[in-house]
Amino acid sequence: MNEMKILVVEDDRSVSNLITTTLKINHYTYIAASTGNEAISLCASHHPDLILLDLGLPDIDGIEVIRTVRSWSEALIIIISARGEDSDKIMALDSGADDYLTKPFSIEELLARIRAAQRRMKYLSSGSEKTPVFVNGDLTIDYASRQVTLAGKEVRLTAIEYRLLTLLAGNVGKVLTHSYIIGRIWGGGVETDIISLRVYMTSLRKKLKAAQPGFNLIETHIGIGYQMVRVQDS
Ligand code: CA
Repeated sequence: MNEMKILVVEDDRSVSNLITTTLKINHYTYIAASTGNEAISLCASHHPDLILLDLGLPDIDGIEVIRTVRSWSEALIIIISARGEDSDKIMALDSGADDYLTKPFSIEELLARIRAAQRRMKYLSSGSEKTPVFVNGDLTIDYASRQVTLAGKEVRLTAIEYRLLTLLAGNVGKVLTHSYIIGRIWGGGVETDIISLRVYMTSLRKKLKAAQPGFNLIETHIGIGYQMVRVQDS
């Protein structure tokens, strides 16, 4: 049995059945809700580790569910949203969701996201967020000396590139939206747009790729933002 408890929130019965059957076959413990209010009450009574949340619910909006649950729960939240609703995904991520899955999705995609959430959960519970050295695969960040190494090679970053990298590292596994990143790096008052962010991100990636040509820990979510993926512990 998998140690993770999952809450499935989906009003479309065929999608809900697909998800719960997949979870059952893969030995996950789950509970299911078909409305937002039911989801909130199940979350309060069952304390799930992960919530798979459809945004379009019959009673209250999925965003409202995220905001309510986030005020007292640390559960990881993966949004399940229809294609072409980028603004909803962005709002959901900024409200505290961790990742998203776009409908229609494959079983393999669903399971991969759940495994990624499990890695993020393990990472968060191990408290490694607070350790002075961040390690993810071949990437090491020594916060005290501000030294970044990749596959043993030192990577020299500018102040902004370093802050971008540490922001992504501190939220490993979570999709960070453009506006969230801009707000955290440059603050609210500075006129910085997505194009400038893209330029900094390109130069950061270029330096990381120079140290390790196959570097792919930072994923681009087109129209949404960026995510550092957690490498599976070997
Ligand atoms: Ca729905």
